[in-house]
Amino acid sequence: MQDALNEQVNAEMWSAYLYLSMAMHFEAEGYAGIANWYKVQWQEELAHAEILRNWINSRGGRVSLKAIDAVPQTWATPLDAFNDTLAHEQKVTGLINKLYALAEEEKDYATRGRLDWFVNEQVEEEENCHKLIDRLKLVGNDGMGLYYVDQELGARTYTVPSPLAAN
Ligand code: MG
Repeated sequence: MQDALNEQVNAEMWSAYLYLSMAMHFEAEGYAGIANWYKVQWQEELAHAEILRNWINSRGGRVSLKAIDAVPQTWATPLDAFNDTLAHEQKVTGLINKLYALAEEEKDYATRGRLDWFVNEQVEEEENCHKLIDRLKLVGNDGMGLYYVDQELGARTYTVPSPLAAN
């Protein structure tokens, strides 16, 4: 279970790195709002890794930090980036589900309980992506539409996730 949790710490750090790369790409491309949205996403992924590290430590385990693989650097359009984001989050949902199944198999019900938060978080992540993809499909290549989407995403702010806020 500890090895699998450490793998997930690495996966969350890779997610953070991916979203930071997207933020840097959109900042360079002049989409300040989309860049802001991805920076918030980056902070959330760092928090996911922290929640898992705290959990490993609180159970008397040992955190093991592994190398973070390189991430893509450019996306042709905002829609491409959000499609990639959804596909990535669906992959992460699969990883969380596997962790959950392992916790059940090993009768580690405490870890299973901690993972409940992640299961719910993934539902939210996927829903957010679906909504943004729908909106970007609606505006297509319309500059004014993209301008408004960018403005809207610029308003997103980071909220500390409840498992960290409670500490
Ligand atoms: Mg995550």
